[in-house]
Order: sequence, then C-alpha cells, then structure tokens
Amino acid sequence: MTRIVMKFGGTSVADPEKIEKAADKVVREVEKGNQIAVVVSAMSGITNKLVDYCSDITPIYDAREYDTVVASGEQVTAGLMAIALQKRGISARSWLGWQIPIICDDIHGKARIEEIKSEEIEKRFSDNEVAVIAGFQGVSLRNRITTLGRGGSDTSAVALAAAIKADRCDIYTDVNGVYTTDPRIVPQAKKLKIISYEEMLEMASSGAKVLQTRSVEMAMKNNVNVQVLSSFENEIGSDLPGTILTKEGDIVEKYVVNGITCSKDEAKITILNVPDRPGIASDIFSALSDDVINVDMIIQNISKDGTKTDMTFTIPRSDLHRAKESLLKLKGIKEENIISSDKIVKISVVGIGMKSHTGVAKAMFKTLAEKSINIQAISTSEIKISVIIDEDYTELAIRALHSEYGLDETSS
Ligand code: ADP
Ligand code: ASP
Ligand code: MG
Repeated sequence: MTRIVMKFGGTSVADPEKIEKAADKVVREVEKGNQIAVVVSAMSGITNKLVDYCSDITPIYDAREYDTVVASGEQVTAGLMAIALQKRGISARSWLGWQIPIICDDIHGKARIEEIKSEEIEKRFSDNEVAVIAGFQGVSLRNRITTLGRGGSDTSAVALAAAIKADRCDIYTDVNGVYTTDPRIVPQAKKLKIISYEEMLEMASSGAKVLQTRSVEMAMKNNVNVQVLSSFENEIGSDLPGTILTKEGDIVEKYVVNGITCSKDEAKITILNVPDRPGIASDIFSALSDDVINVDMIIQNISKDGTKTDMTFTIPRSDLHRAKESLLKLKGIKEENIISSDKIVKISVVGIGMKSHTGVAKAMFKTLAEKSINIQAISTSEIKISVIIDEDYTELAIRALHSEYGLDETSS
C-alpha cells in the first residue's frame, strides 16, 4: 500500500468549488488503494488579509497573537476539505497543528517543527480514514499556536511525510512543476522533469517560491520523495506528471545552469564610517542575530586610512525596520551612519554543473553589462551565483540571463 501526502496550496483551495476539485483528486488516489494524508493552505489571499488585519491595528504587534490570527485561514480549509471528502463517501477528519500535535519551537511567525506525534493519525489510517491537516501551523511547548513562516504549508507537508514515512509527498500548486525560472516572468521557461534537492534548495532560498526553503531542507535530510504538480490538470500524483526532487547522484545530465531566480524580499543596509577594528563585524552581526534577523550578503570595504570603513549587507525586507533598531542600540552607530534601500532585487543562477564548469560568472556579468545593469553586490556558493541589482531591471535581467544560458524552450 502506497502512503501519500497530498498538499494543496492557496490557489488550489481558493473557493469551495476548487476545494471540491481537489477532493476529487484525493478520491482518485484513495480508489487506487493508497493511504492519504492531505495538507491544506488557506484560501488564496486569506493569509495576506489576516496579516493586514494585525497591522491595521498596530504596525508592531505581539508575534504570539499574530500566529493566532494568521493560523486561522488553514483551519477553514481543513474543515471544508474534510466536508468535501465526506460528501464523496470518504471517511475523513480535520486536524489542527495542536491536535496532532505538530510541536514547534517558540520563534513565533517563523517557528521550526521539532517533532510530529503521528500515532493517532497512524491509528486512523488502519480504519481507512483520510487525515486532513491544516498546514502552516503547529504548537509550541508553551502550548501557544505557532506558524511556520510564509509558504509554510509546504514544510508541514514534507515534515508530515517524513514523520509517517510516506512514499511520496505531492505538492499540488498552480503550475505543473518546477521551471527553469518563474514561468510568469519568462513564458519560454522550461519545465524540469527532475531536479536535485541541492539545486531546489538554492532556488527556493533565492526566491523561487514554488517550495518553501525549509520544506526542501527537510526533504533532503529525510530523503522524502517530493513531486511538484498542478491542481488544475487532470493527472494525479500517481501518474507522476510533475517535477520530481531527487538526490544529485540520480541525475545523469547535470546542466551548468538549471535555474534562475529572483527575490524581492531583500533590503540593503550600508553602515558608513564604522570603526575598522577587530570585533566590529562580530558586534554588528551578533546584534542582528540576537534579534533573529538573517543576514545574507556581506561586503566590507577596505578603509582608506585604516580607521573607518563602510559595511554593506542584505537582510529580509520585512526585517528592515527591526534591523535598524538593533543597529542603533550599538555604541557608535547613529541614524546618520545608516543608509538603507528596499528597491533592490537579488537575481541568482543555480546549477550543479557549476561544480565542474567555469565561465558561469563571466557570462552573467557580461550579460548584465550589455543591458547596462549595474551590479551592487555579488555572492557565490558552490552551485549558485547571486547579484543584487536595481529592482526596476528584474525582468530584463532574468530574460537576458535565461536566454544567455540556453534555457529558453525552443518550439519543436
Ligand atoms: P501555492 O499557493 O500552491 O503554495 P505558490 O504561489 O506559493 O503556490 O508557488 C507557486 C508559484 O511559484 C507559481 O505560481 C510561480 O509563479 C512561482 N514560481 C517561482 N519560481 C518558480 C519556478 N522556478 N518554477 C515554478 N514556479 C515558480
Ligand atoms: N497560508 C500560508 C501563506 O500564505 C501558508 C501557505 O500557504 O503555505 O503563507
Ligand atoms: Mg506556496
């Protein structure tokens, strides 16, 4: 018997009619004799609305109460999905994070799953009951509702698949797989049949929101077979129509560049005239880390006179305000020392073939130069090169790079 987690994202459960369509897919998997757990997101647009409700009251709110508010979207869809399945003669029960329980740390707003106690769901599988789980949420050891960060239902699904040792975790969304770049930006983007966990991790962490980064990390660590596929096409997961995530060793053709991503979730901070002395970087980045602000790229200029220097780094755009507050607490940093911009975008090119090929960076810089696009910061990893550029050039840069690396789908 095959055990499958089926996750439906926001657009796939956007209204009762779509929930019924998704339920039909669940029925088809059940009729094949598969054991199914369903994970649902909130109806599309609902989480944004719930976030706005919090900030309508006050711009800085208690993260525990934010979690209580935003987790509610998934509760609605879990109940509606269970009703839709019951209407189809399937025994189904909804589960909220605390009921399973999905135990998380207490970093509210971006909690990490620590453990899933799946005994009760396991027991019900043997009675042929489908478990419908509210994605995006868990419960802390202090018994408060937590949420897993935006896009977190992917992580709920993969974590559940790992906990119940599912044979597959099918992520149903509004595109029919993972593409070489966001198909909404580049219509010529190619669908990938297969992608390594490593490449998907780099793509997700650099902006391809088709999967939440933590879900890919978790899939890689636990060897979960993940497939990304469309809710709106006729096939179901067992037809294997989507993009499969797999180990690097299973990939025969290793393309030098397999994907291009963009992230508008970044902001850039420059601190001017910081004292050029040992320990200054430690002071700055410890302050940010203590306030749970992730720093991505860092550039420190060489100081002209050996006494003062400038330090530039990028952080999540949503943390810009908090980051400035953290920095202002440090001795010697004043408001006039800090320059920030959120009109930037990070463009990344990703591919495992980069491990053994040179010239990728050269091609990237040349292509951007030909389009007169100025690069503000660069960072590299073994399989990724990222640059920060002005946000206005996002589409131009992605399209130019996509064709430079030969990724455009050619009509055949
Ligand atoms: P869901 O609501 O199902 O979780 P998301 O909106 O979070 O869906 O993710 C799906 C979206 O991800 C697609 O609509 C697409 O625009 C975007 N996307 C970005 N990069 C890629 C990529 N490389 N391949 C496929 N989709 C991508
Ligand atoms: N509803 C949540 C969000 O919009 C979680 C998810 O859809 O994955 O971020
Ligand atoms: Mg998503």
